[in-house]
Amino acid sequence: MTNKDLANLIFPNITKTVEDYEKEYPKRDLKEGAIVSRFAPSPTGFMHLGGLFQAIIDYVIAKSSGGVFFLRNEDTDKAREVDGAVELIMETLTHYGLIPDEYEFDGKIVGNYGPYIQSERKEIYHAFIKHLIEIGRAYPCFCDKEELDQMRENQEAMKVRPGYHGRFARCSRLSVDEAMEKIKNGEKYVIRFRSNGNFDNKFEFDDLRQGKLYLNENDIDEVIMKSDTMLPTYHFAHVVDDHLMHTTHVVRGEEWLPSAPKHIQMFEAFGFEAPKYIHTPLIVKKDGDSLRKISKRKDPEASMSYYDLLGYPTLAVIESLMTIINSNYEEWHTINPDKKFDEFIFSANKMSTSGALYDLMKLDDISKNIISKMSKDELYEKSYEWACKHSESLKSIIDKDVEYYKNIINIERESEKPRKDIARYSDIENLIWYMYDDVFDSKEINYEWKNITDKEEIKKILNTYMNKYFDLSSQEEWFNKVKLMCDELGYASNMKDYKKNPDNFKGNVIDISTVLRVALTSKCMTPDLYSIMKLFGRDRILNRYNKIS
Ligand code: GLU
Repeated sequence: MTNKDLANLIFPNITKTVEDYEKEYPKRDLKEGAIVSRFAPSPTGFMHLGGLFQAIIDYVIAKSSGGVFFLRNEDTDKAREVDGAVELIMETLTHYGLIPDEYEFDGKIVGNYGPYIQSERKEIYHAFIKHLIEIGRAYPCFCDKEELDQMRENQEAMKVRPGYHGRFARCSRLSVDEAMEKIKNGEKYVIRFRSNGNFDNKFEFDDLRQGKLYLNENDIDEVIMKSDTMLPTYHFAHVVDDHLMHTTHVVRGEEWLPSAPKHIQMFEAFGFEAPKYIHTPLIVKKDGDSLRKISKRKDPEASMSYYDLLGYPTLAVIESLMTIINSNYEEWHTINPDKKFDEFIFSANKMSTSGALYDLMKLDDISKNIISKMSKDELYEKSYEWACKHSESLKSIIDKDVEYYKNIINIERESEKPRKDIARYSDIENLIWYMYDDVFDSKEINYEWKNITDKEEIKKILNTYMNKYFDLSSQEEWFNKVKLMCDELGYASNMKDYKKNPDNFKGNVIDISTVLRVALTSKCMTPDLYSIMKLFGRDRILNRYNKIS
């Protein structure tokens, strides 16, 4: 019996060949230098910051080169699959505007290189495995769990590198007849790749981020097809898919680097050219004085739902990741403030060689800048959309009167030096609640008085102001009147005079405006007081001031 007989026994119904598939998946018609990238997550129910990090790189390299970015669902590990995970991945990519050119979702296939769900490509993998068996580069392995555990124990005891290699690869030595006999007897088996490597030899591997690396050849006969589902493992599936889908660049986490020698061998066994690899660094954070990996378990910011829940603009999250994707991104962005992030030319060798340090404070700064540049209408739309999903209370505040809300958020906006106090939509309510009388009245108010705390003095200031100096006709007039009141009440209207002779005054114009501000809003820090007063109008201001007793 021959390898061909063995292959036919294992895959009696597979009639298509590797060549047939090569014809079905012809070379893509793209311009020279166009990059084909893919985001290939496993549907495990979690969209990690590292996943978005990779998807952004995939997107940017494809878009900036006029190439193709596609999404492939790597669902061959059925035990780890979680319901709704695919939806979450698609939702997250859509939310961040990283729409794949090719994908499969909700029964719809977009693109000519699908299916884009691995479990739907079983037949294709079988044809490729059949070919490897025929040429002697794959074989069935009948070792069960106990035998493999025993093998590992022995290896540990002998201090030998673990794995199914060399003399430990027992089933690699079965003859075709023996293997066929076992299969006919109904013994369970997996299919293993037959490695031809020597671990003591090194070969040159060019990782686009880390440059030339010298890796040990692989000598492990890796499982490429599991017995229960007859589905391939990641190692094998990605080789077949990235070949047929004509991926030019694989962007994946550096935890895959140790497996790269296996993958290169598999491409070679078929005579295929391997894609270029960019193994991305871990995303790390500061923890005290040291850096550590951002962890799914310990750090809420590891999950993309964190950013959604707090209401960060998607662009802020993308920009914050771009700054750690390439060290020259910030400089480029400063020189090209109006260009979109996907016009940036990514350079794999400008990625961090160690971990990529993510900093939430930096995200806040980026976000404050982005929100400060939004028009009132844009901020209204974005914050309202967020509130509808995540904050019943902000939604009900906005619903009371949309125009009023827009006017509030427009204070110190749409101007040359806009306010930068909002980092995320969930900050807004805490910054504007006092602008609503019913909210104000429903709370226990803590007035943040500063230098002037004497209630009688405060009341005198408020009364004098409302009776004699209240004037909202213009910002200038408003301030002139406040200053006139200072003169009347013994406070310095001019800070220079005050600094020269502080003892001549009861206080100064800042103290007076603080009283006017705190009595109205309860807060000592607010945006422009004149604008706030304009929105309140005389009656409501009087009403608030009357509450001070
Ligand atoms: N499915 C693999 C994972 O989720 C993808 C690795 C790759 O991009 O090739 O880690």
